[in-house]
Amino acid sequence: KLSKRLEAVASFVPTGAVVADIGSDHAYLPCYLVHNGIVKKAIAGEVVKGPYESALRQVKLEGLEDNITVRLADGLKAVEQRDGVDTITIAGMGGPLIVSILEQCPEVLHSVTRLILQPNIHAKVIREWAIRNHWAILDEVILKEDDKIYEILVLQRGDMELTEQETLLGKQLMVNKSDVFVEKWTKEIANWKRILSSIEKADHTTDIAKKREDVMHHINLVEEVLNDEV
Ligand code: SAM
Repeated sequence: KLSKRLEAVASFVPTGAVVADIGSDHAYLPCYLVHNGIVKKAIAGEVVKGPYESALRQVKLEGLEDNITVRLADGLKAVEQRDGVDTITIAGMGGPLIVSILEQCPEVLHSVTRLILQPNIHAKVIREWAIRNHWAILDEVILKEDDKIYEILVLQRGDMELTEQETLLGKQLMVNKSDVFVEKWTKEIANWKRILSSIEKADHTTDIAKKREDVMHHINLVEEVLNDEV
């Protein structure tokens, strides 16, 4: 059975899409998509040999070799033009790594109409990348599984404007303000406050003053939302 996290990613894949799952590990996501009749064709890309072999094994075990092509490749290099990929999923990595993968071969994205991205941390850099590259957020989800909190961002082509607060927190997530959202950002504030108190103890160089200001700014941004001040 697929994890709740990957099931949520799968729920955003349009029926009949041609999907590339980058960093697929065991290829659980593409296997699930084919088994559930959501897609007929998928690419599973993996840059590390061990996970690549797990993906090959899983696809064979499930008898899906005709539907899923597993490739050992770095990021979007797993995608070939003739694949006709229109949807890309990248899950279970940090936001900065996801962005670096998206930036590595921009031409691969030409045929792509939907990106489903699940950063473990720093979703903010994905929102910043999206604005710069003319992608807009279609949907956003925050969920908790095994005591970890995950965000999923669904992007389609288009322009969007986000405030600094919306870029950090997610516009829809901020409005929904689910229990998981409040939990995530309450923990984040506690962590920033710990950082602040350790900064207080250190010597006061200009560098530290700047860092302190930056952390306080973030605390204020998030507290405004948690305390319903926006
Ligand atoms: N996507 C699966 C999931 O969400 O459960 C697996 C997540 S796993 C934590 C991250 C995987 O991404 C690892 O198997 C790693 O080898 C792979 N990976 C990291 N950087 C990559 C890259 N540049 N190209 C392809 N795969 C990459």
